[in-house]
Amino acid sequence: MANPLLQSFDTAPFSKIKNEHFAPAIKQLIADTKEEVNVIVERTEAPTFANTVEALENTGQQLDRVTSVFFNLNSAETNDEIQKIAQEISPLLTAFSNDLLLNEALFKKVKTVYDAREDYNLTAEQKMLLDKQYKGFSRNGANLSDEKKAVLRTIDADLSKLKLTFGENVLAETNAFTMHITEENDLAGLPDGVKEAAAQTATEKELKGWVFTLDYPSYIPFMKYAENRELRKKLSLAFGARAFNKNESNNEQNVLDIVNLRHKRAVLLGYESHAHFVLEERMAETPQKVMSFLNELLVKAKPAAQKEFDELEAFAKKLDGIDRLEKWDSSFYAEKLKQQKFNLDDEKLKPYFKLENVINGVFTVANKLFGLEFEIDNSIDKYHEDVKTYRVTDAEGTLVSIFYADFHPRAGKRGGAWMTSFKPQQKINGINDRPHISNVCNFTKPTASKPSLLTFNEVTTLFHEFGHGLHGMLANTTYKGLSGTNVSWDFVELPSQILENWCYEKETLELFATHYETGEVIPMELVTKIKESATFHEGMQTMRQLSFGMLDMSWHGSDPSHISDVKQFETEAFGDTALYPETPETCMSTAFSHIFQGGYSSGYYSYKWAEVLDADAFDYFKQEGIFNKTVATKFKETVLSQGGTVDPMELYKAFRGKEPNPDALLKRAGLLN
Ligand SMILES: [Zn+2]
Repeated sequence: MANPLLQSFDTAPFSKIKNEHFAPAIKQLIADTKEEVNVIVERTEAPTFANTVEALENTGQQLDRVTSVFFNLNSAETNDEIQKIAQEISPLLTAFSNDLLLNEALFKKVKTVYDAREDYNLTAEQKMLLDKQYKGFSRNGANLSDEKKAVLRTIDADLSKLKLTFGENVLAETNAFTMHITEENDLAGLPDGVKEAAAQTATEKELKGWVFTLDYPSYIPFMKYAENRELRKKLSLAFGARAFNKNESNNEQNVLDIVNLRHKRAVLLGYESHAHFVLEERMAETPQKVMSFLNELLVKAKPAAQKEFDELEAFAKKLDGIDRLEKWDSSFYAEKLKQQKFNLDDEKLKPYFKLENVINGVFTVANKLFGLEFEIDNSIDKYHEDVKTYRVTDAEGTLVSIFYADFHPRAGKRGGAWMTSFKPQQKINGINDRPHISNVCNFTKPTASKPSLLTFNEVTTLFHEFGHGLHGMLANTTYKGLSGTNVSWDFVELPSQILENWCYEKETLELFATHYETGEVIPMELVTKIKESATFHEGMQTMRQLSFGMLDMSWHGSDPSHISDVKQFETEAFGDTALYPETPETCMSTAFSHIFQGGYSSGYYSYKWAEVLDADAFDYFKQEGIFNKTVATKFKETVLSQGGTVDPMELYKAFRGKEPNPDALLKRAGLLN
């Protein structure tokens, strides 16, 4: 039988695809795409936007379709076989894209078009595509001499090894520590489930009693509930000292090596610092802008944070005679204070959030805002029976998108929640080809006697991912590489985070938050509590986020070659964000995997940045009415449909009429008095 992945298809033909189809199809499609690229390279006519840049953008269409099907399955419905295929084809795909970026003849053609860009009559979107393509090459060293290119490759190889070592050390240190408890009264305060898990860990290690580790599911509840302060201190210090201990897993030198190599790389490519290099492609643009953003928030949020800290310290003193609130006291007393203030637990709220009701709720919101209709279409092929498939149409009945909703956990699905696509939106061969968008979550499955009831956190997660989904579904651009969520990553969370705001509004909750047994609408008292508890300790949380953002920018914003003492540098970088007494035994940087192992270097600020955007944008809705059609249409036309075709700050200003202002966030968080 012919390989279904090598035929053209609209919705993915899951029922026809067998695992053994993937590797041969992807290999074949890589070869086909190489051929398409060769045609561009070997063309003898002078390079133009159409015959080079646009042509290159349109190569590999079928390869993209098949790899998205494959990697989406590897996340949501995987098995040993698929994982093995992933091991086989991932290096092939990496090699393919590396070869493309190192293809000098191809770069020469793109550069010819880029250098003459003012001579063409390009649309804003075409300019963006050209810029993105050119930078894809130049940021990878295409403009460098052969000698410097060789240096760059060495730096890249060293960096990838160092990042790996950094991560291995954090993991080794996380695994190396255990806290063995043999006296039951040392467990006072811990919920039964936590105790059981610790007993289980002890049994696995052939020990009696209970064992706690530095893994989050063990560490977090211990810090939150354990009454024994000395043991909290022990566990907290062990956590904070990961890869800072004087042993073979110490990361201090690795941190210094990583930041110095990143700096060298950036300078080689013509940038002032690593942060300048990274931020060139972000909405925030420069390290100066990021630092003044963080500092402005610091100044405005610090008084509230200090007040919260003082209140918590007084609470701990009153309760247990604690004189000086330490890091290992924070979540313990915060949890107690929160209970006292709100007495709000998940079990009270869950009956109002039956999954089907929440789904109908988010669809209703999308309908009221953007006129979208969602209709189940069981004729669409699916990869698992739990997946629901919808046709999404606009008010005129025109197809906007196909939407896959895959909401329950199962073996073969990774944890967490995400949005993805099976097919990008683009305008090609004279048609506006509509996208196929998917939301994948892990909500408790219904049983014969009980429906799937969500925690409030899960409700906001569903709205969040659906916001990303709308960004994909409403995309309306020419090129797929600029479509939907293909935007700079300090802008990509705006559509998702803004949608979460609707969950806190009475007007929205009344649409769907009804008790699954009685049909009663959620009481106003609970809605108020949800809102108030959501801003609990926002000041201190903000300080924490700012401290990480500032540490990140300090490491990457200037020449780091003079730094020799990691801990001292870090303490200075934290500066005014610090609330708790300093602990010389611990170090954040040596286990700051986000920026030293993962991809967040010079990007940690974007969590807060995105919050400022979503709060400021939602404030506009609040002023005009949260279901105001005019504002919603404007949001669709200036943000959701535009993808990455225009500079994100321009998009934002087109929507909001001004640059984002942090006051709305501070107001929402209760930090402006
Ligand atoms: Zn998100």
